[in-house]
Amino acid sequence: MPKIELKNVTKRWGGFYAVENLNLSIDDASFVTLLGPSGCGKTTTLRMIAGLETPTSGRIEIGDTVVFDSDLGINIPPNKRKVGFLFQNYALWPNMTVYDNIAFGLSNIKGEMAKVDFEARNAAKLIDILRNPADVVRQIEDCRNKKGALDQKKAYIKLIDAYTISMFTAKELYKYDLQSSKDPAKLAADITVKLAAVVDGRKAAAKAKGMELNADCEFTRDGKTVMEERKLTREEIDLSVRRVSRIVKISMFMDRYPAELSGGQQQRVAIARTLAPEPSVLFMDEPLSNLDAKLRLEMRYELQRLHLETGSTFVYVTHDQMEAMTLATRICLINNGVLQQYDPPLRVYNSPDNLFVAKFPGTPPINVFDGQVRAQKLYIGKDCVLEVKGVADRDVFVGIRPEGFLLKEDGAFVCKLKGIEVMGRDISVVSTNEASLSSTIRSIISSENKVDTGSAAVRFDLRPKKVFLFDKETEERIYFEIGELQDEKEMV
Ligand code: ATP
Repeated sequence: MPKIELKNVTKRWGGFYAVENLNLSIDDASFVTLLGPSGCGKTTTLRMIAGLETPTSGRIEIGDTVVFDSDLGINIPPNKRKVGFLFQNYALWPNMTVYDNIAFGLSNIKGEMAKVDFEARNAAKLIDILRNPADVVRQIEDCRNKKGALDQKKAYIKLIDAYTISMFTAKELYKYDLQSSKDPAKLAADITVKLAAVVDGRKAAAKAKGMELNADCEFTRDGKTVMEERKLTREEIDLSVRRVSRIVKISMFMDRYPAELSGGQQQRVAIARTLAPEPSVLFMDEPLSNLDAKLRLEMRYELQRLHLETGSTFVYVTHDQMEAMTLATRICLINNGVLQQYDPPLRVYNSPDNLFVAKFPGTPPINVFDGQVRAQKLYIGKDCVLEVKGVADRDVFVGIRPEGFLLKEDGAFVCKLKGIEVMGRDISVVSTNEASLSSTIRSIISSENKVDTGSAAVRFDLRPKKVFLFDKETEERIYFEIGELQDEKEMV
């Protein structure tokens, strides 16, 4: 699976920079989310990597291939970049069944592929399955309806899923009728003898032509796999369709038309269609935005599972910070076409490089205040809230995560209490402070705390690691050292 490298990539429309001098290294098999507000350049970045948009300048590599280089005049078209796309508006063909929607793209694939003896391969697969005839019978017997009759179609799907075989092989297996036999083991042994003769015959035929069949029934000559220019066979297409349908759990809907599916099921079909040609890189642009909240959550898990199962590199565009946090191995946070931070989700949350990054993830979001550093002490309003070693006197923005507040009777930071929201395990304390840049401060504390709701004020100590300082001009992070005493607060 390839690594993707962007070097000084810029996209300009006239004088407007949609993406400016972007450097990004997307690791092999990673799940990278491109996150940022609307219009920040996420889609443009994705489209440039995929080849759907031509950068104004820069260089893009996918694996060992340079797919774009403005200096060298290289620009490989999208269909040659071996990437898959999944967009928000995943139009399925309304006049085709689910099966045909997924199979359609596969039937157009033509290229250099291993020459295979499919007759031998199918026979070998059936021999393998028939080693356990009782299991075959059990799979089929599971498909009886309430009246006790066998549901043949259900049985085919069951066999396809149980043994990773095509519909053609499943029908063959069903036809052996092990389920009606008084002695399935004996019947399986008899069939196996015939199938073994088929395999031997095919091997002999290959030998007569100066070739061998390897364990996958591919032709080899002098130890090397024989390649040929061909299309996928109906059986190979079927196997692919079944494989991806199993992954996204739509095997039961193969004969339905898109209009007969729910939004989530349609989305799964679109994902299956994208996965079928086994792209090594999968690009997704807000693919879940058409779904309701519950389905979105469900599909999020599906995508995580898919990422693990396929081992592909996923690049995913979203403006939803929760989606980006939960899915990604690394988040690429963009603002106004400029990369702000590129790190694993927890690092983005726990160590933001600037105020923009600090404000993006988190529910409730970070609380921001006007603050002053005087003699290595941090003041918010008149309250001295923290010792900040290594910072010269200056005015700053102070960002405090909701979990950075510790309720304390003699706490240094005094706020006006507005109310509390008991959420079970936690309590959200809502308060105000003149130095706050928003109308309310939201802090999250454990519900084991007792908050005196009759009191006008609420006092906090702060967890130093949850407090970030930013330059008032550049909004870049100002780092400070945490004193030993404060480190202990961290333990509370
Ligand atoms: P959203 O989340 O709303 O989809 P985005 O981050 O994906 O936004 P892009 O679609 O990458 O944003 O657009 C980045 C900027 O480039 C936007 O300001 C957009 O208006 C501008 N833009 C995109 N395509 C063109 C074009 N063909 N001509 C001129 N400007 C464009």
